[in-house]
Amino acid sequence: MQRSIVFSAEWDDRMAELRGDAQALGELRSDPATLVLPMWRGRPLIRGDDAVQVVWLAPGDPILRDAAPDWIFLGRHDGTARFAADLSSWVPEGLDEAAMSGFFDPTEYAHPALPQGHRYAELRGLMMRLGAVEAAMVSTTRALLNWHGSHRHCSACGQPSDLAMAGWQRVCPSCRTPHFPRTDPVVIMLVQKGDRVLLGRSPGWPEGMYSTLAGFVEPGESLEAAVRREVREETGVRVGTVTYVASQPWAWPNSLMLGFAAQAETDTITLDHELEDALWLTRDDLARALDGTHPRIRRPRSGAIAYELLSRWMAGEIGHAVTNPGQPDAD
Ligand SMILES: [Zn+2]
Repeated sequence: MQRSIVFSAEWDDRMAELRGDAQALGELRSDPATLVLPMWRGRPLIRGDDAVQVVWLAPGDPILRDAAPDWIFLGRHDGTARFAADLSSWVPEGLDEAAMSGFFDPTEYAHPALPQGHRYAELRGLMMRLGAVEAAMVSTTRALLNWHGSHRHCSACGQPSDLAMAGWQRVCPSCRTPHFPRTDPVVIMLVQKGDRVLLGRSPGWPEGMYSTLAGFVEPGESLEAAVRREVREETGVRVGTVTYVASQPWAWPNSLMLGFAAQAETDTITLDHELEDALWLTRDDLARALDGTHPRIRRPRSGAIAYELLSRWMAGEIGHAVTNPGQPDAD
């Protein structure tokens, strides 16, 4: 059973103290030992099939001539300085923009100048095949590039802003306001009552896909309050005790998923407009969903925190123990 949360690994050192040091960064950028991660429209450059590897380039690689001039400084790992470069300006032949904006785009894009087998691929399809640290570096870069792409103007005065601090800030050249990368907190919760868990599906999801409920935290709201509000709004179910479990950075586009176990006090489901369906799944049904043998519920994607919450509950690691499995709720 998967026991790790993808994208949450830490690399050796982010070296934030060098982000404003132009001379040190310049020296690292011209050091042939430095490694550069090429990213195209949120996708890493990879090679290999089952054991996929990120392709790291030397700073002098001709591919990087087409990169945006400002590289993101990720820090140091395994004794080597790491940068990421954005190559999104490349427009491949036959690019399917509609597929790219869909739920998941399986298309892979091979630049004609790249060696055979090297291609850019959607991170969601790779998340279980990349090494833990590489996955974290790619998702961090993806989140930062998403933020730069959607925050090109100063929110104080409206002028175009500039990338600063090696990619970790933007600064307005007109009013000097610094802007910091956004991370949007999202609560995601395993809601339990007795031996059942509450799952929902949103409109537009692939057929048979259900997941734990989730929603954005609102200003002025505690995480526990957000859990209770989201569950009540989406399903009408009232939640009592809320316990933190784990978190997962989720770069679609800039979220931090905060995972909780929540005890339901009621079980009547009243759907609102956000969900297409919600249901209570017994432990037996959930076991079949997790091993891919449920007739109706598709296997949740391993590596995502929803899968981890469900797996840990199945293993008895989170939530209240069920004293009489298989028996109706006493409470
Ligand atoms: Zn400004």
